[in-house]
Formats: sequence, structure tokens, C-alpha cells
Amino acid sequence: MDKHMLNENHEELAKRILSAKHIVFFGGAGVSTESKIPDFRSADGLYQKKNFPYPPEMMLSHSFFERHTKEFYDFYRTIIFKEAKPNAAHLKLAQWEKEGRLAAVITQNIDGLHQAAGSKTVYELHGSVKRNYCQKCGAFYDEDFILTNEGIPHCIKCGGIVKPDVVLYEESLHMDTINKAKNAIQEADMLIVGGTSLVVYPAAGMINYYHGDNLVLINREATSFDNRANLILKGSIGE
Ligand code: NAD
Repeated sequence: MDKHMLNENHEELAKRILSAKHIVFFGGAGVSTESKIPDFRSADGLYQKKNFPYPPEMMLSHSFFERHTKEFYDFYRTIIFKEAKPNAAHLKLAQWEKEGRLAAVITQNIDGLHQAAGSKTVYELHGSVKRNYCQKCGAFYDEDFILTNEGIPHCIKCGGIVKPDVVLYEESLHMDTINKAKNAIQEADMLIVGGTSLVVYPAAGMINYYHGDNLVLINREATSFDNRANLILKGSIGE
């Protein structure tokens, strides 16, 4: 895409945002790469790093958590970026919500950066590293508890194993979150999808609930939903 066309698309996006009253944003790991949190599938993403004992998808699966809990935590701790700060994309979305233009952010991310930016209505399809619960008594633990403990974190009240409130591979998404996200998408007058390869299901399939004619895609690479979009911006989401 040449520079002229990119500018034209930016202008068109700005115009549409100004006339929208019910924007819904659907995002993924690409939203946080400019906050220095690596995504999975970019050239410098996690899947390209070869220094793991098992593939990342396997280490983030339910069965791996059950069978190799210590190794799960050794890996899991490396994907918590406690010092990361919201970037321009997170901040702009929070601003639109405050201005009454944006109804909800639906994210596949687990980093909590939308809330850190000030967004209030955030549907976290895959949970959050900020929340962890004892599997036995349900006691809550924050991310510091996970980071400052070594090996398998055990509940200080009952000794149970603490599990992140993150939807692991092989686990189902929470029905309540899906329903809220689905309703938001169906009511949107503009759906902006950004920073996601749209290959992780069922999350990616949520876009199918949008039947309007104002679907915008912002991504560095092409996605399988490009032919469905009314406007495509190929480039940085922060920009
Ligand atoms: P993905 O890694 O599969 O795809 C990211 C996409 O974003 C790629 O197509 C890439 O080209 C694009 N991208 C990267 N940086 C960008 C930028 N600055 N501007 C525009 N586009 C950019 O990520 P996904 O689709 O979200 O699926 C991966 C799964 O991994 C998700 O379920 C998510 O939960 C999880 N994940 C989350 C985080 C996080 O919480 N920050 C990080 C890594 C992975």
C-alpha cells in the first residue's frame, strides 16, 4: 500500500470515527506489541523463539498445566510483563469510551493494559494474568503472588494449587463474557478489529456476529477476514 493510499485510509477512518456512536473494538496481541509485549505470530513473536523445551501452545494448554505444573509456571512467568505500560492505541480507545463514542473493548489479550489505560467496559475473552485463584478454596491472588513465588504457587490459606484466570488451550471461554461480547458486537455501528491474526478460535469467530457495513481492520499483515472489511489499514495500530 503506498503512502498516499495509507493517508487516505487514515482520513477515512477518522471521518468514520467522528460519526460513530457505538464503536466496538476487537483486538489481539498486536495491540500490545508497542507496549513491548511480544505477540505470538509476528516475525519477532513468541512462536519464533526456539529456546523453549516445548512449543508455547503446548505449555499454555490445560493438560500441560495439569501434568507439568512446575514447567507451566516456569514458562508462564516469562509471559507476564508487569512493567508494561499502555500505548497510544490503548489510550485512544479509553478516550473514545470517555467521549461516549465507544461501547466496549473486546480483547484476546491477557495483559490488563486496556484497564490500565482507563477503559471500563473490557471483555477479556482469554482472561487476565492479573487474576489467579486457588483451585481448592477459590482464594484470589494477584500477579505479584505468582511472580514472587518460585515453582508451583500454593494457596496460603488451604495449600491448594493456584491457577491463573487465563483461558488455556483446551479450555472453554466463559459463557458470560462471550454473551456480553456478542451483544456488544451485534449492537455496534462500527467494528474496529486490530492487532490480531484472527486465527485463534473461537475468539476470531466472534466477528461473524457483526452484520453492519462499517468493519475496519487494522493490522500489519493480511488476515483471512480482509475480504469482509469495508476499510483496511495495513500498519501500526498505535499510529
Ligand atoms: P497473534 O500473535 O496471532 O497475531 C498478532 C497480529 O497482530 C499479527 O497479525 C501481527 O501482524 C499484528 N501486529 C503485531 N503488532 C502490531 C502492531 N503494532 N500494529 C498492528 N498490527 C500488529 O495474536 P492474536 O491474534 O491475538 O492471537 C494470539 C493469542 O495469544 C491470543 O489468544 C492472545 O490471548 C494471546 N497473546 C496475548 C498477549 C497479550 O496479552 N499481550 C501476547 C501474546 C499472545
